[in-house]
Amino acid sequence: MTNDFNHSYDLTGKRIWVAGHNGMVGAAVCRMLKDEGCEILTAARDALDLRDQVAVHAWMAAQKPDVVVLAAAKVGGILANSSYPADFLYDNLMIEANVIHGAHLAGVEKLLFLGSSCIYPKEAQNPISEEALLTGALEPTNEAYAIAKIAGIKLCQAYRAQHDCDFISAMPCNLYGPGDMFDEEKSHVIPALMMKAHEAKVSGAEFLEVWGSGKPRREFLYVDDLARGLVMLLKTYSADKPINIGAGEDSSIRELAEMICDVVGFTGTLKFDDSKPDGTYRKLMNSSRLFGAGWSPDVGLKGGLERTYQWFVQNEQHRNEAAA
Ligand code: GDP
Repeated sequence: MTNDFNHSYDLTGKRIWVAGHNGMVGAAVCRMLKDEGCEILTAARDALDLRDQVAVHAWMAAQKPDVVVLAAAKVGGILANSSYPADFLYDNLMIEANVIHGAHLAGVEKLLFLGSSCIYPKEAQNPISEEALLTGALEPTNEAYAIAKIAGIKLCQAYRAQHDCDFISAMPCNLYGPGDMFDEEKSHVIPALMMKAHEAKVSGAEFLEVWGSGKPRREFLYVDDLARGLVMLLKTYSADKPINIGAGEDSSIRELAEMICDVVGFTGTLKFDDSKPDGTYRKLMNSSRLFGAGWSPDVGLKGGLERTYQWFVQNEQHRNEAAA
């Protein structure tokens, strides 16, 4: 085990601001923190625009959080990322700069910033360790998002170096689970394919359209496993080096699509659309530092997809009932 985990920080009684509590990751962190005896602070999106520096700093000065989990971000799948680079760069830079500098001004004791495995170079050797950061060119389809996330890591490191702030960063692989954004065009691959497979089953369609060649490989982590790892990091990790948090194994998009069809009960065939981008070929991370500290995922891909589909169906019913 590395010394970076020697830190001991008790969350009991702390005021913890989960920025982005309505998102998939923020909501999972809130669920996980319920057992920690802390007070969870949240700010509704329409009440606090995280891109507004004055508003964010005023909110933090008034609320005085002890801890910040920065899970708020503009996120989207491969097509959204490559179609709206200005939004992904600007929104994420502003959110990070405002919240991280605001945490310094407000005397926050601990801040956890959420990055992404897309920060690593396109040609990084797999499994990708934390040392690969800034050693090569990025994958173009999500370069804007990756640059913003790298800036967030650098902000945490800079405030630690210059102001002795205990700000840490975690790099998750591709995430999925309840509370994900389900949208055919804008989502990441799991919610997009799950939604399309469900609709194909309901309408009796013959094909499920899968973007790209099906050959790229991705590492998928169930969001509750991530949240458990993040709470562990808050309590034990203090270092300027970002830390990877991934499942430790990957699957091809074809394998994933087949598994989703199985879970959803769609019996038609897959149709690959090679007019859509594949993105990077593979981005399996090396998460051995976190595994070595005692964390490992509980939920396998099949089980996680089943839970996610259950959530999707229940929420679709709610939506339909609300609309009726
Ligand atoms: P990425 O990890 O940043 O590339 O994010 P995505 O989750 O959006 O895409 C992962 C891979 O899944 C890419 O190779 C996509 O081309 C592929 N993919 C296949 N079908 C879909 C789909 O319907 N939506 C999305 N977003 N990706 C898909």
